[in-house]
Amino acid sequence: MPIANSGKVLATGANGYIAIWVVKALLEQGYSVRGTVRSESKGTHLKERFKSYGDKLEVVVVEDITKEGAFDEAVKGVDVVEHMASPFHFNAEDPNELITPAVAGTSGVLQSALLHGKDVKRIVVLASTAAILETNRSAPVVFTEDDWNNHAIQQVETKGKDASPADKYQASKTLAEKAAWAFYEQHKNEVKWDLVVLNPPFVFGPVLHAVDSPESLNTSAKEWYYNVVKGRLDQEALANSGSSYVDVRDLAEAHVLAIRKEEASGNRIIISAGAFKWQDWVNASRLVAPELPPGNTSYKREKAVHQRSYDNSKAAKLLQLPYRTLEATAADCIADFKQKGWL
Ligand code: NDP
Repeated sequence: MPIANSGKVLATGANGYIAIWVVKALLEQGYSVRGTVRSESKGTHLKERFKSYGDKLEVVVVEDITKEGAFDEAVKGVDVVEHMASPFHFNAEDPNELITPAVAGTSGVLQSALLHGKDVKRIVVLASTAAILETNRSAPVVFTEDDWNNHAIQQVETKGKDASPADKYQASKTLAEKAAWAFYEQHKNEVKWDLVVLNPPFVFGPVLHAVDSPESLNTSAKEWYYNVVKGRLDQEALANSGSSYVDVRDLAEAHVLAIRKEEASGNRIIISAGAFKWQDWVNASRLVAPELPPGNTSYKREKAVHQRSYDNSKAAKLLQLPYRTLEATAADCIADFKQKGWL
């Protein structure tokens, strides 16, 4: 039995890069959405973008997600919560700039659902493969949902402000996800909802949220723009560095499937389309924009070695999620950046 084929969904951080696509997918598939933003002005674009849906979209302000009871009002009358508000950047000096909102925001929304979410049936938390991968593991390695990034937590605990920017961010995501599972474990007999956690790697694809320049893009789209469109990487990095990715629209669909599929209950699920080297994006983008810098012309995709990748079989089994090809994602990014006048 699907758990929520209709009803109202609370989407936290609704103005973010990923979240606005989730809001779009939910509205298109018949759900009502209550989106939270940090200030009135951050809701303006959302309301304008989806005005054809009338009162099916409600935008509410939750100024500080770390405050006790921050989501108490927001969870009232919703059937599902999709928690997506959390910082993603590599500029934190103190690791707590990331850890506090990540952990307190996640625990806070669950606590509000426990106390005030009498209609809530499921909570979906947007986590990350940052909570899974460990950079100290001997490579090549294929990570699964059984893996936890305890290494980043340990790095932050021992080095504090001197930990690497990646470790600070990864620790925030790992601690937040651990807090979610611990909270659920402690309270599962008191609540009528269950928990699903989605763990995507890098998220790429067109940009729907309010951004006025490439410089103010979110972290992942900005990385893509400067590496692929602006040719920021050297030859060596183009051919040898990369990660795994998923298209933002496929991840949005995963958020809808995660509330429709009963069998997703109680699972953390890796949502990854596959591994890439940056030159793959350059080559795919040049199919539609040959004027872009060619990058490393001696790169051979079939010879690329991916030191870290992710097993995505659980998502295939539980969500039956289809993925766009890398070429399709690249073409749509290019079209979007051209339309914005950035290329
Ligand atoms: P964005 O920066 O576009 O969106 C982040 C959202 O979280 C915004 O609504 C933002 O609000 C809100 N937020 C950030 N910091 C705080 C804070 N301190 N208090 C309250 N709200 C806050 O990022 P993405 O859409 O890329 O990321 C969304 C989520 O997805 C994050 O949890 C991230 O860790 C996760 N993720 C992202 C990946 C990616 O490649 N993009 C990969 C894997 C996971 P405001 O606009 O007001 O700052």
